[in-house]
Amino acid sequence: MKKIIILFAISAMAISCSKAPQQESLTMCDTTQNHLVMPVAWYQVSGEMEALYLQAFNFAQMRLGEFAKKEKGKLAVVVDIDETMLNNSPIEAEAILKNRAFSKEFWAEWSAKSAAEATPGSIEFANYAKSIGVEIFYISNRDSSEIGSTIANLIKVGFPYADSSHCLFKTTSSNKEPRRIEVGKTHKIIMLIGDNLGDLAEVFDHRQDNYGKNAVDSLRSQFGKRFIVLPNPMYGDWERAIYRGQKLSACQKDSARKSILKGF
Ligand SMILES: [Mg+2]
Repeated sequence: MKKIIILFAISAMAISCSKAPQQESLTMCDTTQNHLVMPVAWYQVSGEMEALYLQAFNFAQMRLGEFAKKEKGKLAVVVDIDETMLNNSPIEAEAILKNRAFSKEFWAEWSAKSAAEATPGSIEFANYAKSIGVEIFYISNRDSSEIGSTIANLIKVGFPYADSSHCLFKTTSSNKEPRRIEVGKTHKIIMLIGDNLGDLAEVFDHRQDNYGKNAVDSLRSQFGKRFIVLPNPMYGDWERAIYRGQKLSACQKDSARKSILKGF
């Protein structure tokens, strides 16, 4: 009798073990913020992140010096703020640690602290621009109501031109083109820097075509010249392109992210 019970128990375990993975793959999706763990860890502790930002800003400085010698009139560099000049990775880390989804309120809580640190090399670059007479314009999709706390943050860490005439924040549209045109009325924009392609030109706002890669290819000669791009694996329009403009639940987003992966 004992033997029969043991055999029954073993076979029951075997059945449940063989079924579990199949059931999980059909029903489970990750609704936490854990998909951010690796990108945020990379952004916060890797020497590679530090090196890539320094590489970009060192190169940008070299090119800016060359361009400024050739150009005449009032010159400008347009920069994005978040994950370009300021590092907001603490809110991404907080999202993981407290399992909080991103929201306007959550962002406002962080932004009001004016506590973001500068990204590696960004202050040196901005001060170099100032030293050769090139103005910095901060075109950001932070809300206009955040201008005060953002300027306080920029000043605290040492950025030049941190004033209301050089900060063009989002009012109605996240498309930055009208604000670039505004700057272009008084200055010649000789360089644009950002972590999101939409920081550089309007053509990149449209990602339907091969996730925006075709647009990048069509302007390939501009990268490392007029356009300087910084790495942001945590979020961006590249992620929104995966969701194809749809409002998805956390579970649907998880599925969408996995659905575009290419194995071998
Ligand atoms: Mg940004």
